[in-house]
Amino acid sequence: MGEAVIFLGPPGAGKGTQAKRLAAERGYRQLSTGDILRSHIARGTELGQKVKPILDRGDLVPDELILELVKEEIAAMPTPRIIFDGFPRTHAQAEALDRLLEELGVELRGVLLVDVPREELIQRLLGRAQAEGRSDDNEETIRKRLAVYAEKTQPLVDYYARTGNLKAIDGLGSMDEVYSRIQSALNHDLH
Ligand code: AMP
Repeated sequence: MGEAVIFLGPPGAGKGTQAKRLAAERGYRQLSTGDILRSHIARGTELGQKVKPILDRGDLVPDELILELVKEEIAAMPTPRIIFDGFPRTHAQAEALDRLLEELGVELRGVLLVDVPREELIQRLLGRAQAEGRSDDNEETIRKRLAVYAEKTQPLVDYYARTGNLKAIDGLGSMDEVYSRIQSALNHDLH
C-alpha cells in the first residue's frame, strides 16, 4: 500500500527544503507542483507558456490543470510514497486528492503545517528573490501570494484538522531545528 504526507504552509515557510530532506532520508518522493510548473516554464512547453503569467502574478493555476499534473505523476509510480509540497492549495484540490488517494489505495499518513509569522515570511521571500532570482519573488507578487494563501489555502488547516492527522510545528529557527521538530511530529506516522 502506498503512503502520502502533505506539507502545508505559507510561501516562504521553508516547506520545500524540509520536504526534500525528509523525502531523501526516508525514501519518499517529494512532489512539488510549483517545481513541476517551473520546469514546464523553463522548457517552454505549451503548459509552461499558459501558466507563466499566472505564476508571475502570484495567482493560483486552475485546479483542473494541477489535478491533471498530479494524477500523471502518481500514475507513474508503482507504490507511491509521496510528500506533497505546495499541493493541495484549495478546498477543491484537497477533496480531489482525498478521492484520488482512496482510489489508488494510498494512505494519507499525516499533514504537517509549518507555521511562520507573516512579517518573517516577507523578509525571507525578499531574501530568496535576491539569492535565486525567481521571477515571482518581487514584493508585489509576494504580498499577493500571501493573500492568496490566507484566502484559499489556510482554510485547509481546518479541513485537515477535521479529516486528517494534522500536526503543526514552529517554522522559526535554523533548518536543522525545524527539521528535528518535523521528525518528532511525524515520527509515529512514517514507515
Ligand atoms: P510554489 O513553488 O509552491 O510556491 O508555487 C509557485 C506558484 O506555482 C504558485 O504561486 C502558483 O502560481 C503555482 N502553484 C503551485 N502549486 C499550485 C497548486 N497546488 N495550485 C495552484 N497553483 C499552484
